[in-house]
Amino acid sequence: MSADVIDGKAFAAGLKQDVARQVAVLKEKYDLTPGLAVVLVGEDPASQIYVRNKNKSTKESGMNGFEYRRDPDISEAELLGLVKKLNEDPLVHGILVQLPLPGHINEAAVIDAISPAKDVDGFHVINSGLLATGGQGLVPCTPLGCVMMLKGRLGNMSGLNAVIVGRSNIVGKPMAQLLLNENCTVTVAHSRTRNLDAVVRGADIVVAAVGVAELVKGSWIRDGATVIDVGINRIEKADGKTRLVGDVEYAEAVKHAGAITPVPGGVGPMTIAVLLKNTVTAACRQAGVEEPEI
Ligand code: NAD
Repeated sequence: MSADVIDGKAFAAGLKQDVARQVAVLKEKYDLTPGLAVVLVGEDPASQIYVRNKNKSTKESGMNGFEYRRDPDISEAELLGLVKKLNEDPLVHGILVQLPLPGHINEAAVIDAISPAKDVDGFHVINSGLLATGGQGLVPCTPLGCVMMLKGRLGNMSGLNAVIVGRSNIVGKPMAQLLLNENCTVTVAHSRTRNLDAVVRGADIVVAAVGVAELVKGSWIRDGATVIDVGINRIEKADGKTRLVGDVEYAEAVKHAGAITPVPGGVGPMTIAVLLKNTVTAACRQAGVEEPEI
Protein backbone atom coordinates (compact mmCIF):
# COMPACT_ATOMS: atom_id res chain seq x y z
CA MET A 1 0.00 0.00 0.00
CA SER A 2 1.20 3.50 -0.72
CA ALA A 3 -0.50 6.54 0.76
CA ASP A 4 -2.15 9.26 -1.29
CA VAL A 5 -0.06 12.39 -1.14
CA ILE A 6 -1.99 15.42 0.10
CA ASP A 7 -0.87 18.19 -2.22
CA GLY A 8 -0.56 21.32 -0.08
CA LYS A 9 0.53 23.40 -3.07
CA ALA A 10 -2.68 22.57 -4.92
CA PHE A 11 -4.83 23.24 -1.82
CA ALA A 12 -3.06 26.56 -1.31
CA ALA A 13 -3.43 27.57 -4.97
CA GLY A 14 -7.17 26.87 -4.76
CA LEU A 15 -7.56 28.87 -1.56
CA LYS A 16 -5.57 31.79 -2.99
CA GLN A 17 -7.88 31.86 -6.02
CA ASP A 18 -10.90 31.89 -3.71
CA VAL A 19 -9.38 34.77 -1.73
CA ALA A 20 -8.67 36.74 -4.92
CA ARG A 21 -12.32 36.30 -5.94
CA GLN A 22 -13.46 37.51 -2.50
CA VAL A 23 -11.18 40.55 -2.75
CA ALA A 24 -12.61 41.39 -6.19
CA VAL A 25 -16.16 41.24 -4.78
CA LEU A 26 -15.25 43.40 -1.77
CA LYS A 27 -13.68 46.04 -4.02
CA GLU A 28 -16.61 46.17 -6.39
CA LYS A 29 -19.45 45.92 -3.89
CA TYR A 30 -18.08 47.93 -0.96
CA ASP A 31 -15.01 49.77 -2.32
CA LEU A 32 -13.09 47.78 0.34
CA THR A 33 -9.53 46.63 -0.31
CA PRO A 34 -8.24 44.40 2.51
CA GLY A 35 -4.77 45.47 3.68
CA LEU A 36 -2.08 43.39 5.39
CA ALA A 37 0.87 45.00 7.21
CA VAL A 38 3.91 42.83 7.83
CA VAL A 39 6.57 43.98 10.29
CA LEU A 40 10.05 42.50 10.01
CA VAL A 41 12.66 43.30 12.66
CA GLY A 42 16.26 42.42 11.84
CA GLU A 43 17.77 40.39 9.04
CA ASP A 44 17.07 36.74 9.85
CA PRO A 45 17.39 35.10 6.39
CA ALA A 46 14.44 32.69 6.85
CA SER A 47 12.20 35.53 8.06
CA GLN A 48 13.23 37.67 5.07
CA ILE A 49 12.13 34.89 2.69
CA TYR A 50 8.80 34.43 4.52
CA VAL A 51 8.09 38.15 4.46
CA ARG A 52 8.97 38.44 0.77
CA ASN A 53 6.62 35.53 -0.06
CA LYS A 54 3.85 36.97 2.09
CA ASN A 55 4.07 40.34 0.34
CA LYS A 56 4.11 38.78 -3.11
CA SER A 57 1.05 36.65 -2.32
CA THR A 58 -0.79 39.60 -0.77
CA LYS A 59 -0.36 41.69 -3.90
CA GLU A 60 -1.23 38.77 -6.21
CA SER A 61 -4.55 38.38 -4.41
CA GLY A 62 -5.42 42.04 -5.10
CA MET A 63 -5.00 43.18 -1.48
CA ASN A 64 -2.85 46.02 -0.24
CA GLY A 65 0.45 44.88 1.25
CA PHE A 66 2.42 47.17 3.59
CA GLU A 67 5.91 46.21 4.66
CA TYR A 68 7.73 47.71 7.66
CA ARG A 69 11.38 46.75 8.04
CA ARG A 70 13.12 47.81 11.22
CA ASP A 71 16.72 47.48 12.47
CA PRO A 72 17.44 44.68 14.98
CA ASP A 73 18.30 47.27 17.65
CA ILE A 74 14.84 48.90 17.58
CA SER A 75 13.60 49.41 21.14
CA GLU A 76 10.52 47.62 22.42
CA ALA A 77 8.83 51.00 22.93
CA GLU A 78 9.44 51.98 19.30
CA LEU A 79 8.07 48.67 18.04
CA LEU A 80 5.01 49.01 20.27
CA GLY A 81 4.58 52.53 18.83
CA LEU A 82 4.57 51.11 15.30
CA VAL A 83 1.99 48.45 16.26
CA LYS A 84 -0.21 51.18 17.80
CA LYS A 85 0.02 53.23 14.59
CA LEU A 86 -1.00 50.20 12.52
CA ASN A 87 -3.86 49.42 14.92
CA GLU A 88 -5.23 52.90 14.17
CA ASP A 89 -4.64 52.84 10.40
CA PRO A 90 -7.97 52.27 8.58
CA LEU A 91 -6.21 50.89 5.48
CA VAL A 92 -4.62 48.11 7.55
CA HIS A 93 -6.97 45.23 8.42
CA GLY A 94 -4.36 42.64 9.36
CA ILE A 95 -1.06 43.01 11.24
CA LEU A 96 1.63 40.36 11.33
CA VAL A 97 4.82 40.83 13.31
CA GLN A 98 7.28 38.26 12.00
CA LEU A 99 8.71 36.07 14.77
CA PRO A 100 11.22 35.50 16.24
CA LEU A 101 11.98 39.00 17.54
CA PRO A 102 15.42 39.96 18.89
CA GLY A 103 16.05 38.82 22.47
CA HIS A 104 15.70 42.29 24.07
CA ILE A 105 12.06 42.53 22.93
CA ASN A 106 9.25 40.85 24.85
CA GLU A 107 7.38 38.93 22.12
CA ALA A 108 4.27 38.40 24.22
CA ALA A 109 4.00 42.14 24.91
CA VAL A 110 4.23 42.93 21.19
CA ILE A 111 1.66 40.28 20.19
CA ASP A 112 -0.73 41.46 22.88
CA ALA A 113 -0.37 45.05 21.67
CA ILE A 114 -1.86 44.08 18.30
CA SER A 115 -5.58 44.80 18.13
CA PRO A 116 -7.28 41.35 18.39
CA ALA A 117 -9.46 42.32 15.41
CA LYS A 118 -6.31 42.77 13.27
CA ASP A 119 -4.36 39.83 14.72
CA VAL A 120 -4.36 37.70 11.54
CA ASP A 121 -1.80 35.31 13.05
CA GLY A 122 -4.36 34.50 15.77
CA PHE A 123 -1.72 34.57 18.53
CA HIS A 124 -3.33 37.24 20.77
CA VAL A 125 -4.65 35.89 24.10
CA ILE A 126 -8.13 37.13 23.20
CA ASN A 127 -8.10 35.09 20.01
CA SER A 128 -6.66 32.02 21.82
CA GLY A 129 -9.43 32.38 24.40
CA LEU A 130 -12.12 32.72 21.74
CA LEU A 131 -10.86 29.58 20.01
CA ALA A 132 -10.84 27.68 23.32
CA THR A 133 -14.38 28.75 24.19
CA GLY A 134 -15.99 28.35 20.78
CA GLY A 135 -16.15 32.08 20.02
CA GLN A 136 -15.54 33.88 16.75
CA GLY A 137 -11.95 35.11 16.69
CA LEU A 138 -9.03 34.80 14.30
CA VAL A 139 -7.40 31.35 14.19
CA PRO A 140 -3.64 30.66 13.79
CA CYS A 141 -2.85 30.06 10.12
CA THR A 142 -0.85 26.82 10.23
CA PRO A 143 -3.32 24.71 12.24
CA LEU A 144 -6.27 26.20 10.34
CA GLY A 145 -4.58 25.20 7.07
CA CYS A 146 -4.06 21.67 8.45
CA VAL A 147 -7.75 21.36 9.32
CA MET A 148 -8.77 22.60 5.88
CA MET A 149 -6.63 19.88 4.28
CA LEU A 150 -7.98 17.23 6.67
CA LYS A 151 -11.56 18.23 5.88
CA GLY A 152 -10.78 18.18 2.17
CA ARG A 153 -9.48 14.65 2.52
CA LEU A 154 -11.79 13.16 5.16
CA GLY A 155 -14.95 15.26 5.12
CA ASN A 156 -16.68 14.47 8.39
CA MET A 157 -14.11 13.75 11.15
CA SER A 158 -16.60 13.17 13.94
CA GLY A 159 -15.49 10.48 16.39
CA LEU A 160 -12.06 9.93 14.84
CA ASN A 161 -9.04 9.54 17.13
CA ALA A 162 -6.63 12.41 16.50
CA VAL A 163 -3.16 12.46 18.01
CA ILE A 164 -1.23 15.73 17.91
CA VAL A 165 2.45 15.48 18.72
CA GLY A 166 3.57 18.87 20.07
CA ARG A 167 1.82 21.35 22.35
CA SER A 168 3.08 24.75 21.22
CA ASN A 169 0.80 27.79 21.41
CA ILE A 170 1.09 28.39 17.67
CA VAL A 171 0.49 24.86 16.35
CA GLY A 172 -0.22 22.02 18.80
CA LYS A 173 -2.70 23.66 21.17
CA PRO A 174 -4.84 25.48 18.55
CA MET A 175 -4.78 22.30 16.45
CA ALA A 176 -6.26 20.43 19.42
CA GLN A 177 -9.05 23.01 19.77
CA LEU A 178 -9.85 22.90 16.05
CA LEU A 179 -10.03 19.09 16.01
CA LEU A 180 -12.23 19.12 19.12
CA ASN A 181 -14.53 21.48 17.19
CA GLU A 182 -14.65 18.79 14.49
CA ASN A 183 -15.76 16.30 17.18
CA CYS A 184 -12.54 14.29 17.08
CA THR A 185 -11.31 12.50 20.19
CA VAL A 186 -8.09 14.42 20.70
CA THR A 187 -4.86 13.39 22.40
CA VAL A 188 -2.01 15.89 22.70
CA ALA A 189 1.39 14.21 23.08
CA HIS A 190 4.54 16.10 24.00
CA SER A 191 8.13 15.74 25.18
CA ARG A 192 7.07 14.07 28.46
CA THR A 193 4.61 11.61 26.88
CA ARG A 194 5.33 7.98 27.70
CA ASN A 195 5.18 5.30 25.00
CA LEU A 196 4.67 7.78 22.18
CA ASP A 197 4.71 4.93 19.67
CA ALA A 198 1.68 3.28 21.31
CA VAL A 199 -0.17 6.61 21.47
CA VAL A 200 0.41 7.28 17.77
CA ARG A 201 -0.61 3.71 16.85
CA GLY A 202 -4.12 4.46 18.12
CA ALA A 203 -4.60 7.45 15.80
CA ASP A 204 -6.84 7.79 12.76
CA ILE A 205 -5.32 11.25 12.32
CA VAL A 206 -1.71 12.10 13.23
CA VAL A 207 -0.52 15.70 13.32
CA ALA A 208 3.21 16.03 13.95
CA ALA A 209 4.39 19.49 15.10
CA VAL A 210 7.57 18.85 17.01
CA GLY A 211 10.58 20.24 15.17
CA VAL A 212 12.60 17.00 15.43
CA ALA A 213 13.49 15.39 12.11
CA GLU A 214 11.60 12.13 11.50
CA LEU A 215 10.73 11.65 15.18
CA VAL A 216 7.44 9.91 14.32
CA LYS A 217 8.40 6.54 12.87
CA GLY A 218 6.58 5.11 9.88
CA SER A 219 5.94 1.83 11.69
CA TRP A 220 3.88 3.74 14.32
CA ILE A 221 1.29 4.80 11.72
CA ARG A 222 -1.88 2.74 11.75
CA ASP A 223 -2.83 1.35 8.33
CA GLY A 224 -4.99 3.87 6.52
CA ALA A 225 -4.39 6.78 8.94
CA THR A 226 -4.18 10.37 7.71
CA VAL A 227 -0.87 12.06 8.51
CA ILE A 228 -0.25 15.81 8.59
CA ASP A 229 3.43 16.67 8.97
CA VAL A 230 3.93 20.26 10.14
CA GLY A 231 7.65 19.95 10.86
CA ILE A 232 10.28 21.68 8.78
CA ASN A 233 13.79 20.44 9.57
CA ARG A 234 16.95 21.00 7.57
CA ILE A 235 19.30 18.02 7.72
CA GLU A 236 22.73 17.52 6.25
CA LYS A 237 23.20 14.75 3.72
CA ALA A 238 26.35 12.64 3.28
CA ASP A 239 27.45 14.88 0.36
CA GLY A 240 27.36 17.94 2.64
CA LYS A 241 24.23 19.40 1.00
CA THR A 242 21.11 19.97 3.07
CA ARG A 243 17.55 18.83 2.51
CA LEU A 244 14.23 19.52 4.20
CA VAL A 245 12.47 16.75 6.09
CA GLY A 246 9.42 16.71 8.29
CA ASP A 247 8.77 15.33 11.78
CA VAL A 248 7.51 12.06 10.27
CA GLU A 249 9.68 9.34 8.75
CA TYR A 250 8.05 9.82 5.36
CA ALA A 251 9.58 6.93 3.38
CA GLU A 252 8.18 4.39 5.87
CA ALA A 253 4.99 6.23 6.83
CA VAL A 254 3.90 6.36 3.20
CA LYS A 255 3.70 2.53 3.27
CA HIS A 256 1.10 2.56 6.07
CA ALA A 257 -0.85 5.83 5.88
CA GLY A 258 -3.96 6.31 3.79
CA ALA A 259 -2.90 9.88 3.04
CA ILE A 260 0.09 12.00 4.05
CA THR A 261 1.42 15.52 3.51
CA PRO A 262 4.93 15.75 2.08
CA VAL A 263 7.69 18.09 3.29
CA PRO A 264 8.17 20.38 1.47
CA GLY A 265 4.91 20.95 -0.41
CA GLY A 266 2.42 20.01 2.32
CA VAL A 267 1.52 22.26 5.24
CA GLY A 268 3.96 25.07 4.39
CA PRO A 269 2.20 26.49 1.31
CA MET A 270 -1.16 26.50 3.10
CA THR A 271 0.06 28.78 5.89
CA ILE A 272 0.42 31.85 3.64
CA ALA A 273 -2.87 31.14 1.84
CA VAL A 274 -4.69 31.01 5.19
CA LEU A 275 -3.02 34.26 6.24
CA LEU A 276 -4.61 35.94 3.20
CA LYS A 277 -7.95 34.34 4.05
CA ASN A 278 -7.70 35.60 7.65
CA THR A 279 -7.00 39.11 6.33
CA VAL A 280 -10.19 39.02 4.24
CA THR A 281 -12.13 37.78 7.28
CA ALA A 282 -10.65 40.55 9.45
CA ALA A 283 -11.38 43.24 6.83
CA CYS A 284 -15.02 42.15 6.48
CA ARG A 285 -15.58 42.13 10.24
CA GLN A 286 -13.97 45.56 10.66
CA ALA A 287 -16.07 46.99 7.82
CA GLY A 288 -19.22 45.28 9.14
CA VAL A 289 -19.89 43.53 5.82
CA GLU A 290 -20.60 39.89 5.17
CA GLU A 291 -17.64 37.84 3.94
CA PRO A 292 -18.27 36.93 0.28
CA GLU A 293 -19.00 33.24 -0.18
CA ILE A 294 -16.36 31.09 -1.82
P1 NAD B 1 7.87 24.26 19.39
O1 NAD B 1 9.33 24.02 19.55
O2 NAD B 1 7.27 25.50 19.93
O3 NAD B 1 7.08 23.04 20.04
C1 NAD B 1 7.50 21.72 19.85
C2 NAD B 1 6.62 20.78 20.65
O4 NAD B 1 7.10 19.46 20.44
C3 NAD B 1 6.67 21.03 22.16
O5 NAD B 1 5.34 21.14 22.62
C4 NAD B 1 7.32 19.80 22.74
O6 NAD B 1 6.68 19.35 23.93
C5 NAD B 1 7.14 18.76 21.66
N1 NAD B 1 8.25 17.83 21.64
C6 NAD B 1 9.57 18.10 21.62
N2 NAD B 1 10.30 16.97 21.65
C7 NAD B 1 9.42 15.96 21.67
C8 NAD B 1 9.55 14.56 21.71
N3 NAD B 1 10.74 13.96 21.72
N4 NAD B 1 8.43 13.82 21.74
C9 NAD B 1 7.21 14.39 21.71
N5 NAD B 1 7.02 15.72 21.67
C10 NAD B 1 8.12 16.49 21.67
O7 NAD B 1 7.58 24.08 17.83
P2 NAD B 1 6.40 24.65 16.87
O8 NAD B 1 6.54 26.12 16.74
O9 NAD B 1 5.10 24.06 17.27
O10 NAD B 1 6.86 24.00 15.48
C11 NAD B 1 6.94 22.60 15.32
C12 NAD B 1 7.50 22.31 13.95
O11 NAD B 1 6.59 22.81 12.97
C13 NAD B 1 8.84 22.98 13.63
O12 NAD B 1 9.59 22.10 12.79
C14 NAD B 1 8.47 24.20 12.86
O13 NAD B 1 9.49 24.63 11.98
C15 NAD B 1 7.27 23.71 12.11
N6 NAD B 1 6.32 24.76 11.71
C16 NAD B 1 5.92 24.78 10.41
C17 NAD B 1 5.03 25.72 9.99
C18 NAD B 1 4.57 25.70 8.57
O14 NAD B 1 4.06 26.69 8.07
N7 NAD B 1 4.72 24.60 7.87
C19 NAD B 1 4.51 26.67 10.88
C20 NAD B 1 4.90 26.61 12.22
C21 NAD B 1 5.80 25.64 12.62
